[in-house]
Amino acid sequence: MNNIEKDKNRTFRFKHNLGQNFLKDKNLLNAIVSDAGIVNGDYVLEIGAGAGALTEVLCQSVGTGRVVAVEIDKTLSCFLSPLMTKFHNFKLVFDDILKVPFDSITDWFDNKSFKVVANLPYYITTPIIFYLLESSLDIESITIMVQQEVADRIIASPNTKDYGAITPILKLYGTAKITRKVNKNLFTPVPKVDSAVVHLDINRREGINIAGVSKFIRNCFSMRRKTLSNNLLQTYQLSREVVEQCCKKANISPGVRAECLSVDDFINLYNCMTLYINH
Ligand code: SAM
Repeated sequence: MNNIEKDKNRTFRFKHNLGQNFLKDKNLLNAIVSDAGIVNGDYVLEIGAGAGALTEVLCQSVGTGRVVAVEIDKTLSCFLSPLMTKFHNFKLVFDDILKVPFDSITDWFDNKSFKVVANLPYYITTPIIFYLLESSLDIESITIMVQQEVADRIIASPNTKDYGAITPILKLYGTAKITRKVNKNLFTPVPKVDSAVVHLDINRREGINIAGVSKFIRNCFSMRRKTLSNNLLQTYQLSREVVEQCCKKANISPGVRAECLSVDDFINLYNCMTLYINH
C-alpha cells in the first residue's frame, strides 16, 4: 500500500499487490468504451472495477443492456456499491475472476454472448486473456489495458524480437489490434510504464483443434534459443527423422526457430504431426 485516496468521507488505501492504478480521465474512459464497441443493449463483463470510473461509463453506454463487474477487493465497496442504486443495469460481484465458476458468468448474461472490458494488474492480463479464450464462454470481444510491451508482442510480425507464442495463439481466436496508447501519467498512482488498449474480436478459426494447436505453439516456443526441430524432438520424445519428415511435409525448414513461423505454418505442422504428438 503506498497511496491514499480521499474522496468526501471515503478513505481508500491503494494496494500495490493488486495492481491498483486507477483511471480518472473522462475522455480516456469514453475512448476505451468506444474502442470496445459498446452499444445500447450490450452485455458487458468488467473485470477489476477499481473505484468504478470505467464501470460508470459502461453502465451509461449499455442502456437497456447489462454490466456485471467482478472486483477482488471488498474495501472498494464504498465506491462500487452506490453504483447499484444509481444504475439498474449493474451487478457487482466481489470475487477473484479466476475463481468465479463459468456457469455463474453464463447465468449473469442469461446464456447470451457478452463483451469483456478490463483494466487489470499487468501480471494477470495475459493469464486472464488465455483463461477466458480457452473457456467455452460465449465472448464476442475482449478489450483490455495491457503494458505497452505486451501490446507490442500481441501485434508483432514473425521474425521480429517481439514475436512470441502469444502472437500466433491469439490469431487462432480472432483479430487483435491496438486501439490506443495510454500515457502512464493518466493513472493514479502513476505506474512505471506506459500502457495500451488492445481490442480482440473473437472469431475462432474453424476446422482445427484450437486447444491442441495452442498447446503445440507454446511447446514450439518453450526453449526460444533452440531450433524448431530440437524443441520438437525434446518435447515430444521423437526421432530426428520423424520431425524432419513432418517439417518437410509442412513445407517448413527444421532448422528455423519458432519465431519464424506464421500461425498458418503452426497449424500445418500441427496437422502433419498430430499422429505423433497426441498420444
Ligand atoms: N477499472 C479500474 C480503473 O480503470 O480505474 C481499476 C483498474 S486497476 C488497474 C485493477 C483492478 O483489478 C483493481 O481494482 C484490483 O483490485 C482488481 N483485481 C486485481 N486482481 C483481480 C482479480 N483476480 N479478479 C478481479 N479483480 C481483480
